[in-house]
Amino acid sequence: MDALITVLPGDGIGPEVTKSGVRVLQRIAEAFGHHFDFSTQLIGGAAIDACNHPLPADTIASCHESDAVLLGAVGGPKWSDPNAPMRPEQGLLGIRAELGVFANLRPVRVIDELAKASPLKAELLTGVDLMVVRELTGGIYFGEKKRDTDSASDLCIYHTFEVERIVRVAARIARERKRKLCSVDKANVLETSRLWRDVATRIVSQEFPDVALEHMLVDAAAMHLLARPREFDVIVTENMFGDILTDEASMLAGSLGMLPSASLGESKRGLYEPIHGSAPDIAGRNIANPCGTIASVALLLRHSLGLEAEAALVETALLQVISNGARTADIARGNDPVLSTSAMTAKVVEQIR
Ligand code: NAD
Repeated sequence: MDALITVLPGDGIGPEVTKSGVRVLQRIAEAFGHHFDFSTQLIGGAAIDACNHPLPADTIASCHESDAVLLGAVGGPKWSDPNAPMRPEQGLLGIRAELGVFANLRPVRVIDELAKASPLKAELLTGVDLMVVRELTGGIYFGEKKRDTDSASDLCIYHTFEVERIVRVAARIARERKRKLCSVDKANVLETSRLWRDVATRIVSQEFPDVALEHMLVDAAAMHLLARPREFDVIVTENMFGDILTDEASMLAGSLGMLPSASLGESKRGLYEPIHGSAPDIAGRNIANPCGTIASVALLLRHSLGLEAEAALVETALLQVISNGARTADIARGNDPVLSTSAMTAKVVEQIR
Protein backbone atom coordinates (compact mmCIF):
# COMPACT_ATOMS: atom_id res chain seq x y z
CA MET A 1 0.00 0.00 0.00
CA ASP A 2 1.09 3.59 -0.64
CA ALA A 3 0.41 6.16 2.07
CA LEU A 4 1.37 9.73 2.85
CA ILE A 5 1.86 10.51 6.52
CA THR A 6 2.36 14.03 7.85
CA VAL A 7 4.67 14.13 10.85
CA LEU A 8 4.33 17.04 13.28
CA PRO A 9 7.20 16.69 15.78
CA GLY A 10 6.36 19.90 17.68
CA ASP A 11 8.33 20.83 20.79
CA GLY A 12 10.29 19.37 23.69
CA ILE A 13 10.43 15.57 23.44
CA GLY A 14 8.03 15.66 20.46
CA PRO A 15 10.84 15.39 17.85
CA GLU A 16 12.49 12.52 19.78
CA VAL A 17 9.36 10.39 20.11
CA THR A 18 8.02 11.04 16.60
CA LYS A 19 11.42 9.93 15.26
CA SER A 20 10.78 6.61 17.03
CA GLY A 21 7.31 6.40 15.51
CA VAL A 22 8.67 7.00 12.00
CA ARG A 23 11.36 4.34 12.48
CA VAL A 24 8.70 1.81 13.40
CA LEU A 25 6.56 2.79 10.41
CA GLN A 26 9.61 2.44 8.12
CA ARG A 27 10.27 -1.02 9.51
CA ILE A 28 6.65 -2.04 8.93
CA ALA A 29 6.82 -0.70 5.35
CA GLU A 30 9.99 -2.73 4.75
CA ALA A 31 8.59 -5.91 6.28
CA PHE A 32 5.26 -5.81 4.43
CA GLY A 33 6.28 -4.16 1.13
CA HIS A 34 4.36 -0.92 1.74
CA HIS A 35 5.49 2.50 0.63
CA PHE A 36 5.07 5.25 3.20
CA ASP A 37 6.04 8.85 2.40
CA PHE A 38 6.59 11.25 5.26
CA SER A 39 6.03 15.01 5.16
CA THR A 40 7.49 16.70 8.24
CA GLN A 41 5.83 20.00 9.14
CA LEU A 42 5.91 22.63 11.86
CA ILE A 43 3.45 23.04 14.71
CA GLY A 44 3.37 24.70 18.14
CA GLY A 45 6.30 26.64 19.57
CA ALA A 46 8.66 25.50 16.80
CA ALA A 47 6.22 26.96 14.26
CA ILE A 48 5.90 30.23 16.23
CA ASP A 49 9.71 30.54 16.17
CA ALA A 50 10.04 29.71 12.48
CA CYS A 51 7.05 31.50 10.97
CA ASN A 52 5.31 33.40 13.72
CA HIS A 53 2.23 31.16 13.74
CA PRO A 54 1.50 27.98 15.76
CA LEU A 55 -0.29 26.34 12.83
CA PRO A 56 1.14 27.45 9.47
CA ALA A 57 -0.89 27.08 6.27
CA ASP A 58 1.63 24.57 4.84
CA THR A 59 1.07 22.32 7.86
CA ILE A 60 -2.71 22.41 7.42
CA ALA A 61 -2.39 21.71 3.68
CA SER A 62 -0.05 18.77 4.23
CA CYS A 63 -2.38 17.24 6.86
CA HIS A 64 -5.35 17.53 4.50
CA GLU A 65 -3.40 15.78 1.73
CA SER A 66 -2.27 12.94 4.00
CA ASP A 67 -3.77 9.60 4.93
CA ALA A 68 -2.80 10.14 8.57
CA VAL A 69 -1.01 12.57 10.86
CA LEU A 70 1.52 11.63 13.56
CA LEU A 71 2.04 14.31 16.19
CA GLY A 72 4.56 14.59 19.05
CA ALA A 73 3.61 17.31 21.51
CA VAL A 74 3.59 21.09 21.72
CA GLY A 75 4.46 23.73 24.29
CA GLY A 76 7.18 24.62 26.73
CA PRO A 77 8.39 27.37 29.05
CA LYS A 78 9.78 29.41 26.15
CA TRP A 79 6.25 30.08 24.87
CA SER A 80 4.30 30.06 28.12
CA ASP A 81 3.98 33.83 28.69
CA PRO A 82 0.23 34.20 29.39
CA ASN A 83 0.25 37.59 27.67
CA ALA A 84 1.84 36.31 24.45
CA PRO A 85 -0.39 36.88 21.42
CA MET A 86 0.13 33.28 20.26
CA ARG A 87 0.46 30.04 22.17
CA PRO A 88 1.66 26.61 20.97
CA GLU A 89 -1.59 24.96 22.18
CA GLN A 90 -3.48 26.99 19.56
CA GLY A 91 -1.67 24.87 16.98
CA LEU A 92 -2.84 21.66 18.63
CA LEU A 93 -6.46 22.72 19.13
CA GLY A 94 -6.38 24.24 15.63
CA ILE A 95 -5.28 21.06 13.85
CA ARG A 96 -7.84 18.95 15.77
CA ALA A 97 -10.61 21.35 14.73
CA GLU A 98 -9.25 21.67 11.17
CA LEU A 99 -9.29 17.90 10.67
CA GLY A 100 -12.68 17.55 12.42
CA VAL A 101 -11.33 14.82 14.68
CA PHE A 102 -13.98 14.93 17.38
CA ALA A 103 -13.38 11.48 18.90
CA ASN A 104 -10.23 10.89 20.90
CA LEU A 105 -9.65 7.21 21.68
CA ARG A 106 -7.32 6.52 24.57
CA PRO A 107 -6.84 2.84 25.33
CA VAL A 108 -5.40 2.06 28.76
CA ARG A 109 -4.03 -1.44 29.06
CA VAL A 110 -1.84 -2.54 31.92
CA ILE A 111 1.04 -4.75 30.90
CA ASP A 112 1.44 -7.21 33.79
CA GLU A 113 5.22 -6.77 33.94
CA LEU A 114 4.71 -3.02 34.43
CA ALA A 115 2.22 -3.29 37.28
CA LYS A 116 5.08 -2.72 39.69
CA ALA A 117 6.09 0.48 37.85
CA SER A 118 2.74 1.98 38.85
CA PRO A 119 2.46 3.87 42.13
CA LEU A 120 -0.73 1.81 42.71
CA LYS A 121 -1.01 -1.65 44.21
CA ALA A 122 -0.13 -4.28 41.59
CA GLU A 123 -3.11 -6.51 42.53
CA LEU A 124 -5.55 -3.74 41.56
CA LEU A 125 -4.01 -3.49 38.13
CA THR A 126 -3.86 -6.98 36.69
CA GLY A 127 -6.25 -7.29 33.78
CA VAL A 128 -7.01 -3.56 33.47
CA ASP A 129 -8.07 -2.93 29.87
CA LEU A 130 -10.25 0.09 29.31
CA MET A 131 -10.90 2.62 26.59
CA VAL A 132 -11.58 6.28 27.22
CA VAL A 133 -13.46 8.01 24.41
CA ARG A 134 -12.97 11.73 24.92
CA GLU A 135 -14.90 14.40 23.01
CA LEU A 136 -12.16 16.50 21.43
CA THR A 137 -13.48 19.51 19.53
CA GLY A 138 -16.10 21.01 21.85
CA GLY A 139 -16.70 22.05 25.44
CA ILE A 140 -14.79 24.51 27.54
CA TYR A 141 -11.51 24.28 25.60
CA PHE A 142 -13.18 25.67 22.49
CA GLY A 143 -15.79 28.04 24.00
CA GLU A 144 -15.46 31.82 23.99
CA LYS A 145 -12.80 33.15 26.35
CA LYS A 146 -13.04 36.53 28.06
CA ARG A 147 -10.76 38.45 30.35
CA ASP A 148 -10.99 41.87 31.92
CA THR A 149 -9.11 43.46 34.77
CA ASP A 150 -10.48 41.36 37.60
CA SER A 151 -12.44 38.53 36.05
CA ALA A 152 -12.20 35.86 33.38
CA SER A 153 -14.53 33.31 31.84
CA ASP A 154 -14.41 30.28 29.56
CA LEU A 155 -17.66 29.26 27.94
CA CYS A 156 -18.52 25.57 28.08
CA ILE A 157 -21.00 24.74 25.34
CA TYR A 158 -22.13 21.41 23.88
CA HIS A 159 -24.63 20.90 21.08
CA THR A 160 -26.85 17.83 20.87
CA PHE A 161 -25.19 16.64 17.63
CA GLU A 162 -21.75 16.73 19.26
CA VAL A 163 -22.91 14.51 22.10
CA GLU A 164 -24.82 12.18 19.77
CA ARG A 165 -21.83 11.48 17.53
CA ILE A 166 -19.33 10.87 20.34
CA VAL A 167 -21.74 8.59 22.20
CA ARG A 168 -22.28 6.61 18.97
CA VAL A 169 -18.51 6.19 18.53
CA ALA A 170 -18.15 4.99 22.12
CA ALA A 171 -21.16 2.65 21.97
CA ARG A 172 -19.85 1.07 18.73
CA ILE A 173 -16.52 0.45 20.46
CA ALA A 174 -18.31 -0.98 23.53
CA ARG A 175 -20.17 -3.37 21.23
CA GLU A 176 -16.83 -4.79 20.07
CA ARG A 177 -15.68 -5.17 23.67
CA LYS A 178 -17.60 -6.06 26.84
CA ARG A 179 -20.70 -3.99 25.95
CA LYS A 180 -20.30 -1.80 29.04
CA LEU A 181 -20.39 1.97 28.57
CA CYS A 182 -19.81 4.43 31.39
CA SER A 183 -20.76 8.02 30.56
CA VAL A 184 -18.95 10.49 32.81
CA ASP A 185 -20.38 13.95 33.50
CA LYS A 186 -21.10 16.43 36.28
CA ALA A 187 -24.88 16.46 35.88
CA ASN A 188 -25.48 17.50 39.49
CA VAL A 189 -24.12 20.98 38.72
CA LEU A 190 -23.54 21.56 35.00
CA GLU A 191 -26.29 22.17 32.45
CA THR A 192 -24.01 20.87 29.65
CA SER A 193 -23.73 17.64 31.62
CA ARG A 194 -27.50 17.33 31.97
CA LEU A 195 -27.80 17.65 28.17
CA TRP A 196 -24.96 15.11 27.83
CA ARG A 197 -26.74 12.63 30.13
CA ASP A 198 -30.11 12.98 28.34
CA VAL A 199 -28.56 12.50 24.92
CA ALA A 200 -26.39 9.56 26.00
CA THR A 201 -29.43 7.83 27.53
CA ARG A 202 -31.51 8.35 24.38
CA ILE A 203 -28.84 7.26 21.87
CA VAL A 204 -27.86 4.13 23.77
CA SER A 205 -31.44 3.03 24.52
CA GLN A 206 -32.64 3.63 20.96
CA GLU A 207 -29.62 2.54 18.93
CA PHE A 208 -27.56 0.30 21.21
CA PRO A 209 -30.01 -1.59 23.43
CA ASP A 210 -27.42 -4.37 23.74
CA VAL A 211 -24.94 -2.01 25.45
CA ALA A 212 -25.25 -1.47 29.22
CA LEU A 213 -25.03 2.25 29.99
CA GLU A 214 -24.04 3.62 33.37
CA HIS A 215 -23.76 7.32 34.30
CA MET A 216 -21.08 8.43 36.70
CA LEU A 217 -20.15 11.83 38.11
CA VAL A 218 -16.61 12.84 37.20
CA ASP A 219 -15.44 13.12 40.81
CA ALA A 220 -16.65 9.58 41.53
CA ALA A 221 -15.07 8.38 38.27
CA ALA A 222 -11.72 9.85 39.33
CA MET A 223 -11.92 7.82 42.52
CA HIS A 224 -13.20 4.57 40.98
CA LEU A 225 -10.50 4.67 38.28
CA LEU A 226 -7.92 4.19 41.02
CA ALA A 227 -9.98 2.01 43.37
CA ARG A 228 -11.46 -0.50 40.90
CA PRO A 229 -10.02 0.18 37.43
CA ARG A 230 -10.69 -3.38 36.21
CA GLU A 231 -14.44 -2.81 36.28
CA PHE A 232 -14.37 -0.20 33.50
CA ASP A 233 -14.75 -1.16 29.86
CA VAL A 234 -15.51 1.94 27.75
CA ILE A 235 -15.74 5.42 29.24
CA VAL A 236 -17.22 8.28 27.22
CA THR A 237 -16.81 11.83 28.42
CA GLU A 238 -16.47 15.47 27.45
CA ASN A 239 -13.28 17.23 26.48
CA MET A 240 -11.85 18.51 29.78
CA PHE A 241 -12.97 15.57 31.93
CA GLY A 242 -11.41 13.19 29.40
CA ASP A 243 -8.16 15.14 29.39
CA ILE A 244 -7.84 14.94 33.16
CA LEU A 245 -9.11 11.36 33.64
CA THR A 246 -6.71 9.96 31.04
CA ASP A 247 -3.67 11.56 32.68
CA GLU A 248 -4.87 9.93 35.89
CA ALA A 249 -5.43 6.62 34.08
CA SER A 250 -1.88 6.76 32.73
CA MET A 251 -0.67 6.01 36.23
CA LEU A 252 -2.41 2.62 35.96
CA ALA A 253 -0.19 1.86 32.97
CA GLY A 254 2.96 2.91 34.84
CA SER A 255 3.78 6.19 33.09
CA LEU A 256 2.34 8.99 31.00
CA GLY A 257 4.88 7.89 28.40
CA MET A 258 3.07 4.59 27.79
CA LEU A 259 -0.30 5.75 26.51
CA PRO A 260 -1.29 6.30 22.88
CA SER A 261 -4.23 8.10 21.36
CA ALA A 262 -6.11 8.22 18.09
CA SER A 263 -8.27 11.18 17.14
CA LEU A 264 -10.87 10.37 14.52
CA GLY A 265 -13.63 12.18 12.67
CA GLU A 266 -15.99 11.21 9.88
CA SER A 267 -13.23 10.23 7.43
CA LYS A 268 -10.45 7.66 7.78
CA ARG A 269 -7.81 10.35 8.21
CA GLY A 270 -6.84 10.47 11.85
CA LEU A 271 -4.43 12.32 14.11
CA TYR A 272 -2.25 10.09 16.28
CA GLU A 273 -0.27 11.24 19.30
CA PRO A 274 0.95 10.02 22.65
CA ILE A 275 -1.14 11.48 25.49
CA HIS A 276 1.82 13.13 27.20
CA GLY A 277 3.02 16.69 26.70
CA SER A 278 6.35 18.04 25.53
CA ALA A 279 8.09 17.17 28.84
CA PRO A 280 10.55 20.11 28.77
CA ASP A 281 12.23 18.73 31.91
CA ILE A 282 13.67 15.79 29.95
CA ALA A 283 13.74 17.17 26.39
CA GLY A 284 16.84 16.75 24.21
CA ARG A 285 18.37 14.03 26.42
CA ASN A 286 17.25 10.91 24.53
CA ILE A 287 15.58 9.54 27.67
CA ALA A 288 11.87 9.97 26.87
CA ASN A 289 9.71 6.88 26.70
CA PRO A 290 8.72 6.34 23.04
CA CYS A 291 6.16 3.58 23.80
CA GLY A 292 3.11 5.88 23.77
CA THR A 293 4.10 7.13 20.32
CA ILE A 294 4.89 3.64 19.02
CA ALA A 295 1.51 2.43 20.29
CA SER A 296 -0.06 5.45 18.53
CA VAL A 297 1.59 4.27 15.32
CA ALA A 298 -0.19 0.93 15.76
CA LEU A 299 -3.49 2.82 16.03
CA LEU A 300 -2.57 4.77 12.87
CA LEU A 301 -1.96 1.55 10.95
CA ARG A 302 -5.28 0.13 12.19
CA HIS A 303 -7.68 3.07 11.92
CA SER A 304 -6.35 5.18 9.04
CA LEU A 305 -4.57 2.63 6.83
CA GLY A 306 -6.72 -0.41 7.61
CA LEU A 307 -3.59 -2.53 8.22
CA GLU A 308 -4.75 -4.68 11.13
CA ALA A 309 -2.01 -7.34 10.93
CA GLU A 310 0.68 -4.65 10.89
CA ALA A 311 -0.96 -2.83 13.82
CA ALA A 312 -1.18 -6.03 15.84
CA LEU A 313 2.46 -6.80 15.06
CA VAL A 314 3.60 -3.43 16.44
CA GLU A 315 1.52 -3.98 19.59
CA THR A 316 2.89 -7.47 20.07
CA ALA A 317 6.46 -6.27 19.53
CA LEU A 318 5.99 -3.57 22.15
CA LEU A 319 4.52 -6.02 24.62
CA GLN A 320 7.32 -8.49 23.93
CA VAL A 321 10.20 -6.07 24.50
CA ILE A 322 8.64 -4.86 27.75
CA SER A 323 8.01 -8.44 28.87
CA ASN A 324 11.68 -9.13 28.09
CA GLY A 325 12.65 -6.37 30.53
CA ALA A 326 13.31 -3.34 28.29
CA ARG A 327 12.71 -0.16 30.31
CA THR A 328 13.12 3.55 29.78
CA ALA A 329 13.87 5.62 32.90
CA ASP A 330 10.22 6.45 33.69
CA ILE A 331 9.19 2.76 33.94
CA ALA A 332 12.42 1.35 35.40
CA ARG A 333 12.42 0.28 39.02
CA GLY A 334 15.23 -0.76 41.36
CA ASN A 335 18.15 -2.23 39.44
CA ASP A 336 16.44 -2.37 36.04
CA PRO A 337 18.91 -1.41 33.31
CA VAL A 338 17.69 1.80 31.67
CA LEU A 339 17.42 2.25 27.91
CA SER A 340 17.53 5.50 25.98
CA THR A 341 14.69 6.55 23.65
CA SER A 342 16.62 5.35 20.62
CA ALA A 343 17.71 2.06 22.23
CA MET A 344 14.11 1.26 23.28
CA THR A 345 12.96 2.05 19.73
CA ALA A 346 15.67 -0.17 18.27
CA LYS A 347 14.46 -3.07 20.45
CA VAL A 348 10.91 -2.69 19.12
CA VAL A 349 12.16 -2.36 15.54
CA GLU A 350 14.28 -5.53 15.92
CA GLN A 351 11.26 -7.36 17.31
CA ILE A 352 9.19 -6.59 14.19
CA ARG A 353 10.10 -9.44 11.92
P1 NAD B 1 4.05 16.50 30.33
O1 NAD B 1 3.15 15.41 29.90
O2 NAD B 1 4.87 17.14 29.28
O3 NAD B 1 5.03 15.99 31.49
C1 NAD B 1 4.57 15.56 32.77
C2 NAD B 1 5.64 14.68 33.42
O4 NAD B 1 5.68 13.42 32.75
C3 NAD B 1 7.05 15.26 33.29
O5 NAD B 1 7.76 14.98 34.45
C4 NAD B 1 7.65 14.53 32.11
O6 NAD B 1 9.05 14.41 32.16
C5 NAD B 1 6.95 13.17 32.20
N1 NAD B 1 6.78 12.59 30.87
C6 NAD B 1 5.90 12.97 29.93
N2 NAD B 1 6.04 12.25 28.82
C7 NAD B 1 7.05 11.37 29.07
C8 NAD B 1 7.69 10.36 28.30
N3 NAD B 1 7.32 10.08 27.03
N4 NAD B 1 8.70 9.68 28.86
C9 NAD B 1 9.09 9.92 30.12
N5 NAD B 1 8.52 10.86 30.89
C10 NAD B 1 7.52 11.59 30.37
O7 NAD B 1 3.11 17.60 31.04
P2 NAD B 1 3.48 19.04 31.61
O8 NAD B 1 4.83 19.01 32.24
O9 NAD B 1 2.30 19.44 32.40
O10 NAD B 1 3.52 19.98 30.35
C11 NAD B 1 4.71 20.33 29.64
C12 NAD B 1 4.33 21.09 28.38
O11 NAD B 1 3.60 20.22 27.50
C13 NAD B 1 3.43 22.30 28.64
O12 NAD B 1 3.84 23.33 27.79
C14 NAD B 1 2.05 21.80 28.25
O13 NAD B 1 1.21 22.84 27.81
C15 NAD B 1 2.40 20.84 27.13
N6 NAD B 1 1.38 19.80 26.88
C16 NAD B 1 1.19 19.46 25.59
C17 NAD B 1 0.33 18.42 25.28
C18 NAD B 1 0.19 18.02 23.86
O14 NAD B 1 0.92 18.51 23.02
N7 NAD B 1 -0.73 17.14 23.53
C19 NAD B 1 -0.33 17.72 26.31
C20 NAD B 1 -0.08 18.08 27.64
C21 NAD B 1 0.80 19.12 27.92
